[in-house]
Amino acid sequence: MTREIPKAYEPQEIEHRWAQEWFDRKLYTPGPSTPGPVFSIAIPPPNVTGSIHIGHMLEHTQIDILVRWHRMRGFRTLWLPGSDHAGIATQVVVERKLAEQGLKRVELGREEFERRVWEWKAESGGTIKKQMIRLGCSCDWSRERFTLDPPMYRAVLEAFLRLYREGLIYRGRYIVNWCPRCMTALSDLETVHEERGGHLWFIRYPVVGLQESIVVATTRPETMLGDTGVAVHPDDARYRHLIGKQVTLPLMNREIPVVADSAVDPEFGTGAVKVTPAHDPNDFEIGRRHNLPEIDVMGEDARMNAATGKYAGLDRFDARKRVVADLQAQGLMERIVDHTHAVGICQRCKTVVEPRLSIQWFCKMKPLAEPAIEVVRDNLIPVVPDNQRKILLGWLENIRDWCISRQLWWGHRIPVWHCGACGAMTPARDSQVAVVNGRAQAASPPETCGKCDSRNLTQDPDVLDTWFSSGLWPFSTLGWPDETQDLRDFYPTSLLISGFDILFFWDARMIMMGLKLVPREAPEQRIPFRQLSIHGLVRDPHGVKMSKTRGNVVDPLEVIEKHGTDALRLALTIMAAPGTDIALSEDRILSCRAFANKIWNAVRFLFVNLEKLEAAGISFEEVAGRAARGRTARPDEGLDLAERWIFSRLAAALEQTSRALSEFRFHEAAHAVYHFFWGDICDWYLEWMKPRLEGENRQDTVATWRNLFTVLEAALRLLHPFMPFLTEELWMRLPQPAGAAAAASISLERFPEAAPDWNDPEAEKQMELLQGIIAAARNIRAELKLDPKKRVAAELLPAASVSRGFLEKHSDAVLRLANLSSMLLAQDRLHLDPARGAIRSTAEFELLIPYDEAVDRVAEAAKVRKELDRLEKDIQAKTARLGDEAFRSKAPEQVVRTMESALAERRTEYEKLRARLGQLEA
Ligand SMILES: [Zn+2]
Ligand SMILES: [Zn+2]
Repeated sequence: MTREIPKAYEPQEIEHRWAQEWFDRKLYTPGPSTPGPVFSIAIPPPNVTGSIHIGHMLEHTQIDILVRWHRMRGFRTLWLPGSDHAGIATQVVVERKLAEQGLKRVELGREEFERRVWEWKAESGGTIKKQMIRLGCSCDWSRERFTLDPPMYRAVLEAFLRLYREGLIYRGRYIVNWCPRCMTALSDLETVHEERGGHLWFIRYPVVGLQESIVVATTRPETMLGDTGVAVHPDDARYRHLIGKQVTLPLMNREIPVVADSAVDPEFGTGAVKVTPAHDPNDFEIGRRHNLPEIDVMGEDARMNAATGKYAGLDRFDARKRVVADLQAQGLMERIVDHTHAVGICQRCKTVVEPRLSIQWFCKMKPLAEPAIEVVRDNLIPVVPDNQRKILLGWLENIRDWCISRQLWWGHRIPVWHCGACGAMTPARDSQVAVVNGRAQAASPPETCGKCDSRNLTQDPDVLDTWFSSGLWPFSTLGWPDETQDLRDFYPTSLLISGFDILFFWDARMIMMGLKLVPREAPEQRIPFRQLSIHGLVRDPHGVKMSKTRGNVVDPLEVIEKHGTDALRLALTIMAAPGTDIALSEDRILSCRAFANKIWNAVRFLFVNLEKLEAAGISFEEVAGRAARGRTARPDEGLDLAERWIFSRLAAALEQTSRALSEFRFHEAAHAVYHFFWGDICDWYLEWMKPRLEGENRQDTVATWRNLFTVLEAALRLLHPFMPFLTEELWMRLPQPAGAAAAASISLERFPEAAPDWNDPEAEKQMELLQGIIAAARNIRAELKLDPKKRVAAELLPAASVSRGFLEKHSDAVLRLANLSSMLLAQDRLHLDPARGAIRSTAEFELLIPYDEAVDRVAEAAKVRKELDRLEKDIQAKTARLGDEAFRSKAPEQVVRTMESALAERRTEYEKLRARLGQLEA
C-alpha cells in the first residue's frame, strides 16, 4: 500500500476494492474452535430473489457493527449468511413472469414449474448476495445457507416428523384464509387487514309457521346461500320465543334452525346473525357447537359452485350483486347501510381473502408456546425495547394453531403419504434426504401403508409454509439435527436483530422451535438467541412510511453509488435510537459524507507534512504509533496538556461507545465516535499541536508525531465498526512500527482499550478552561463580524481560583487559536468596562475585546443600520403573509411552519443587532 493519499476522498473506488478483497481472502471465516468467548448471529434470511432495500441496509449495518466490534474484541465471531426460498412470494413472482409469456403454472405441471423456479433462482437469486458483499457485510460466506438446500430440508423433515409423531401436527377440515388468486391457504399473519368502505345488508328470514321474520345483518350477502342456521344470544328477550324454531332461507328455500349461542353479540346489527359454517371462522365454531351442516358454496377460485343452484359459476362479487337484486325483488332486503370494516387481503397479491373450509395441516401451538412464554416472561431473552416483549408475550398467550400447509409447488413438500386403499396416512420413515435432479426430497418414503399394507401410496401434494423452515434457521444452519461442532460452538446465537414486522412470523416461532427441538437440558441452552433487538422503520425525511406508490422510496444502492456505504451506514446509525423510527434525509447522509471527508483530509494533511520532515531525516517508521495490536500505551512523561487531554478524551469515547453498543444504543455510540473524531481530534488536538509538528527540537518533534499517530491509530480502530472502508483504507497506510509484521486488515486488529492512566480529569478541566476562553473570543469575533484574518487584542479577568501562571503558560496556543494579538491579564473588574468593548463571562473568567482596536465604530454602525432596515422589511413582509387567512388556509402546513420559524429567527436577529447598535453608539 502506498503512503500517498489521493487528494479527493472517492468512496466508490475504495469500497469496491476492499469489499472484494475481504471476500476473496475469506477474512471473516472464524478460526478453528477454541475455548474463548464466542459471538454468533444468524442473518434474517432475505428472500432469495430479492434485492437490498433500505430496511435490510439498516439491519445489516447494525449487525455488522456488532459483529465487527466483537471480532475486534477477541470473540470468535460468526455472522452466518443465507437466503430464504420464500414460498409464496417467489411463486407469485415466477407465475407473473410466466403469465407474460402466456403460460400458466397448472398447464406446465408441477415438475416443469419447479424447474422454471429453480432456473429463475439461478438467474436472479444471487443479487442480494452480491450486494451484501459489495456492502462489506463481514459474513462467513463459506457457511452460506439456502432454505431449500439438502441439509436444510433434512432439518425440516426431522422437525416435521418429531412434531407429527408427538401428535402436534395434525390434518383437519377447518376454516382457513384462502387466496383465490394464489389458490392456497394463508396463515393469519399472511392475511393483512385493510379498512374498507362497504355495506351492511339487512336481510329478512321468514319464520316458519309464524307471521313474523328475523332480520340478520351481513357484510357478505352472497354467503347466505350457504347458511345453515340463525344464531341469537340466549338472553336476548327479543328472540327468546324463536329459539328452536325454523326459518326459511330466502332464495334457497331451505329450512334452517334458530339456535342460541352466547358468542353472538346482541349489540351488533339486529342481534341475530346468519350462520355460514363453511365460510366464516366464527360461524364455523358456532356450527360445530350446534351440529349445523357445513355447506361449501364456492370453489377454489371463489366462483359459486353447484350447491348454489342458479348462481353457480358466478364470481363471488357478481353473485353478491345478483343475490342483493333478487332479495330486493322479493321484498326481503330490509335496508342497506354504509359500513366500514376490516377486509382480509392476501399479503402477496392483494386479492380479497375468502375464509374457506378446507383440509389443511396444522401445528398445535399451545404446547409449544408455553415454554416460550416462560423464557420471555423470565427475561431469559431480554428484548430491546422492552415494550416489544409485552407485545410478544401477549401474542404467545393468545396463540392459535398454525396452518402450516400451502397449496404451492415451491417449497418443502409434506413428508406424508396417503393410502389409495384405506385413506390412512403414513409419514416418511426417517429424515434422510436424497438429491434428485439437484433437488432435495425425502429419501425414505414408506413402502407400504402403515395401516393396511397397501402399496398404493401417494405423497401429500402440499408444501410447508415458508416460515416453517425459517423457524429452524438458527440451528438448522449449524448442522442440526446432528450435534455438530458448529452447533456446540455457536448455539444459542448471541443475538437476533429484527424488524417488528416479523416478530410473530419468525422471532416467536424460532423461540418455540428452538426450545422444542434442540436437545439440551437447560432452557437457556435451547433458546435460539440470547437477546432480541427490534429496530425501527426507515421513513422518508417527513417521517412518512416509504412506499412505491408514494414514490418516496430510497434505494440504498443509489445512495451508496453517490455518497459511499460508510456515509449511509453512519447516517442510519446516528439516528437509530431504540424504539424510534428513522426519518432519513439526504442532509443527514451528506453530513456523514462530510465527516468522512474531514477524516480523510486530516490524515492527508498529516502525511503531507510528514513527508516534509523526511527531508530533515525523521523517518516514517520512527514516528509510527506505539499502538498497534491491542492495548495502546500512552507515553509516560513529557506529555503536553493537549496530549494528556486527548488520551483522556479517547478513553471517554471508548467507554461511551462500548457501553452504548452493549445496550444496542447505536445512535449514542455513533455520536460518541463522531464527536471525538471531528471535535476533539480534528478541531482541537490537531490544531493545538500544529506548531510542534515542525518544531526545532528533533526529539520533541518525533515525540509529538509519535503521540499523534498513537491517538489516530487507535481512533481509526474505534471508528472501524461504523465506517469499515474508510478506516481500512487509511489505517493500512499508517506507518507501521519497525519490525512489526505486516497487518492484514484493521478489522482483525484489537478494538482499542484504554489504560487506567489515560483518564486525566485534571487535564480535562484545564483544557476545558482554555477552550472556554478561545470559544468566548471566537464568539465575540463572530458577533462583531471581524475579518477572520484580523488579529485583535483581548483582556482577560480570571476568577480567583484560576492560576495566572497556568494561563500565561498556555497563552501562545490561546492567542493562535482565537486569533488574538495579545491577551492582557486584568487585575480587577473595573478594568473591564462594558462601554469599552464586547464581553463574555463564565464562572471562571471574563473576556473583553475592546471596540477601539477591533472596529471602526462609525462604519460599523452604518453597516448595522443598513442590516436592521433590511431585517425590518423582511419581518413586515413575513408578518403580513402569515396574517393572511387565504394564505394560511391554502399553503401546505410545512410551508407555514417553515415561515413561522424563519420569522422568529429574524426577530431574534433584529433584537441582537439593536443591542449591538446601542453599544456602538454609546
Ligand atoms: Zn394471493
Ligand atoms: Zn392403507
